[in-house]
Amino acid sequence: TTVTDAEPTTLQNKLLINGEWTASANGKTFVVENPATGEVIAEVADGSPADAQRAIEAAGAAQADWARTSPRERSEILRRAYDIIISRADELARLITAEMGKPLAEARGEVAYGAEFFRWFSEEAVRIGGDHTTSGDGKTRIVVTRDPVGPCVLVTPWNFPLAMGTRKIGPAVAAGCTMVFKPAELTPLTSLALADILIEAGLPAGVLNVVTTSDAGSVVGPWMSSGIARKISFTGSTEVGKILLRQAADNVMRTSMELGGNAPFIVCRDADIDRAVEGAMMAKMRNMGEACTAANRMFVHRDVAEEFGHKLADRMSALAVGNGADAETEVGPLIDSDGLSKVQSLVDDAVSKGAAVVAGGSRPDGPGYFYPPTVLADVPASAELMSTEIFGPVAAVIPFDDEDEAIRLANDTEWGLVAYLFTQDIDRALRLGERLEVGMVGLNTGLVSNPAAPFGGVKQSGVGREGGRVGIEEFLEYKYMAIPRT
Ligand code: ADP
Repeated sequence: TTVTDAEPTTLQNKLLINGEWTASANGKTFVVENPATGEVIAEVADGSPADAQRAIEAAGAAQADWARTSPRERSEILRRAYDIIISRADELARLITAEMGKPLAEARGEVAYGAEFFRWFSEEAVRIGGDHTTSGDGKTRIVVTRDPVGPCVLVTPWNFPLAMGTRKIGPAVAAGCTMVFKPAELTPLTSLALADILIEAGLPAGVLNVVTTSDAGSVVGPWMSSGIARKISFTGSTEVGKILLRQAADNVMRTSMELGGNAPFIVCRDADIDRAVEGAMMAKMRNMGEACTAANRMFVHRDVAEEFGHKLADRMSALAVGNGADAETEVGPLIDSDGLSKVQSLVDDAVSKGAAVVAGGSRPDGPGYFYPPTVLADVPASAELMSTEIFGPVAAVIPFDDEDEAIRLANDTEWGLVAYLFTQDIDRALRLGERLEVGMVGLNTGLVSNPAAPFGGVKQSGVGREGGRVGIEEFLEYKYMAIPRT
């Protein structure tokens, strides 16, 4: 069936356990706020360890039957869910904006991007391959098959409330894994709406269980130590990722980790400066800079640094800051007061160490966690933001003199998610691209996220890849049968 009519999604605020929407065992709830106004928009169930236990048991009990469903069946559930998301794009975008703050146009972009993971993995579900070879001595047939890894723990952040969920649920469903899912406490509503859509699309009871909570460790901890979960897929901070990696070790669980970034944005002397500014707007301002892929350090050749900085400052100061729900808004609020004070203190630190403010710099009065688009020039190497994810609309421009220096500065970080590189010289592009210690390179573009591509990082940015041809591999095991040739 294709969904053609957009039906309103009821706002879900309970836990989803074994196909049923239920209150938390202790009856508690927590509130969700709109970061543009500080208003409470909903109360959701505050899951407890007892709820976590029921959820993981449901996922464990559902695993065997779910693994036996046909690839086509799983594919069609994802495809139907994709169709429903698209038919309700506007409604979902409004929900994302209400709980997370991004402008509606960006929220619509996230819906299209997030939905695409379901369409992509609906196509991958029926292409799970295997292998058949003969041993070197000719005596054995080697038949290799792929099985789902088993029940998965999914934990997501607040910055892309829909897409971070679909990017994990899509391949898990395609592979035949059951799931327990804990969305970020700041943005649980979109995840609950997504779960509702999957049920409507025909996902059987127990395959996806969602537990919202104000105390992440009290729900995820029991899942990690349950012995039922076989895998954890996490997107969030490197700090929490390390805790989960340690917990995963106790049960030797498979891990996929999408952790922090500290993306260098390199503009060479021969770059098309207008194109670099365009790319910088995307790499810096998408999601108000609240993305692990956000350009954190802009290394610009000294000969073009001033031109680049001024052009970028002109563009950034022209952006309309406001409530994301207003049609004219181009920059929404930051997620909360912690995020806001972190950005302000990173700017203050850089300025106290000698950086020049070319645009923005201090926050406006009034409600909401707003921070103005800010450009800092001549940022010194000692500034804290050089080694800290800014997660806000602040562009830090650092001049460099030659290629080797640019590479040394770019790689001088424990992270290695993405780098952006602007040059019109093909040899330089390949030379520098090869030397960057990252999982992804945007060459003359400020956007690398794409469901058809393997997203992920090296060094402390993570383990594994999401999306692309390899995305489903993270949820599959190998099994081989040895069969003598008689
Ligand atoms: P961010 O800085 O993006 O909020 P976090 O790593 O703090 O990143 O949060 C990402 C996700 O990890 C959220 O869903 C959060 O609730 C969850 N989380 C935080 N602490 C823990 C923990 N100790 N165990 C499991 N999950 C956690």
